[in-house]
Amino acid sequence: CGVFGIWGHSNAAQMTYYGLHSLQHRGQEGAGIVVTDGERLKGTKGHGLVNEVFDGEKLNDLTGTGAIGHVRYTTAGGGGFENIQPLLFHSQTGSLALAHNGNLVNASQLRRQLESQGSIFQTTSDTEVLAHLIRKSGFTSMKDKVKYALPMLKGAYAFLVMTETELMVALDPNGMRPLSLARLGDAYVIASETCAFDLIGAEYLRDVEPGELVVINQEGLHSERFATPTNQAMCSMEYIYFSRPDSDINGINVHSARKRLGKQLAKETNIEADVVTGVPDSSISAAIGFAEESGIPYEMGLIKNRYVGRTFIQPTQEMREQGVKMKLSPVRKVVEGKRVIMVDDSIVRGTTSKRIVKLLKEAGAKEVHVCISSPPIKHPCFYGIDTSTQEELISAFHSPEELCEIIGADSLTFLSEEGLLKAIGRESTDSNCGQCLACFSGKYPTEIYPAENDQSKT
Ligand code: 5GP
Ligand code: SF4
Ligand code: MG
Repeated sequence: CGVFGIWGHSNAAQMTYYGLHSLQHRGQEGAGIVVTDGERLKGTKGHGLVNEVFDGEKLNDLTGTGAIGHVRYTTAGGGGFENIQPLLFHSQTGSLALAHNGNLVNASQLRRQLESQGSIFQTTSDTEVLAHLIRKSGFTSMKDKVKYALPMLKGAYAFLVMTETELMVALDPNGMRPLSLARLGDAYVIASETCAFDLIGAEYLRDVEPGELVVINQEGLHSERFATPTNQAMCSMEYIYFSRPDSDINGINVHSARKRLGKQLAKETNIEADVVTGVPDSSISAAIGFAEESGIPYEMGLIKNRYVGRTFIQPTQEMREQGVKMKLSPVRKVVEGKRVIMVDDSIVRGTTSKRIVKLLKEAGAKEVHVCISSPPIKHPCFYGIDTSTQEELISAFHSPEELCEIIGADSLTFLSEEGLLKAIGRESTDSNCGQCLACFSGKYPTEIYPAENDQSKT
């Protein structure tokens, strides 16, 4: 998912619309915006893309100087309308809007506890537990309520919490999701990715820190800690696949990181080939890096139909397979009679690689060598990206050699974990360089409650 917030801007909803538009790659299932005019909260949300949910009229209706927005990519809780964010709660003591990127691993337990104490949930989303925890806390100030509630949450979260008079921003103690702050004139802006700042002309200030609570209100911006930061675990898939190449995560540009992943991959292999090609759009950067390092020319061997969404996000395997066909076509003249290195960013179910090997061979490629700019994904992710059940992960059950056969490639190479860390190049003395590697290594940075989490996923 993607979150965006702005405080102190005369046209907060319009800015949020633009912000969400540039975060669209983070979720295409639903979008929403809630604004405050200082007295009340008002929101609009719906299924689909940002430009499908909002039009000029709907935006004009959202008058206010503070806003939060969300683009949804369903991993937990299901795709119902009520689960589209921001979640908005009205009560006599004031309203509350919530937008969340990530996934809480102890949401089911918290929910059971809260329900046994009388809370009535409106959604099946893991996000809603925060609203109830905030409401139940005995504190009077919203900041104290939020500060009391956050430490009970486990998992990955970048949270925006808005009331009539305040915007609060929190990042989990492991800092698993990207979240950055910027300035636009007198306004403050928060976004999942820095590409959202560039679009609206906001000036990047800094990243939100793990365990930090930022409070923005009439008095300006104020920062506190609700938890001590523990071993940072920024999601590796944000660099590898998920984020936009023009974003910077913790000071590292995503395109440049991907290019280094490709270079590192080339260093780890020794394949003779005629051309290197990438899978648009996500692995182009890595393919360019691979070509640069290996000296084998980069060519556009595959083109993408721009009018098909991300295949992975389609809910069923059948739809995903059809999606790949609709999405990619080989450039016959480029690959015919050639030994082709096909660089992709990841293999999850193996659908994409298998299909592309077939496409390239049908288009006359003599050999197809598949090089993946990440290690094999063998373990489920409980943090809101990627898959949540191990059965779906082809590398969990097949060695690279077996997988090579399954996808019909002439060779298959994955990047090593060490290579991944080195190529991304975060400054950190931790053995994991401040990155989460759980889907590769099975070493989860938080408790995970596996039994609970397997069931709660869609
Ligand atoms: P597969 O086809 O093996 O199931 O998934 C891997 C392919 O899907 C890659 O080409 C990758 O770019 C694309 N992809 C789309 N969405 C995701 C996602 O959320 N996570 C990962 N790892 N890959 C994804
Ligand atoms: Fe990211 Fe993988 Fe960690 Fe999930 S398990 S947060 S996808 S690195
Ligand atoms: Mg891809």
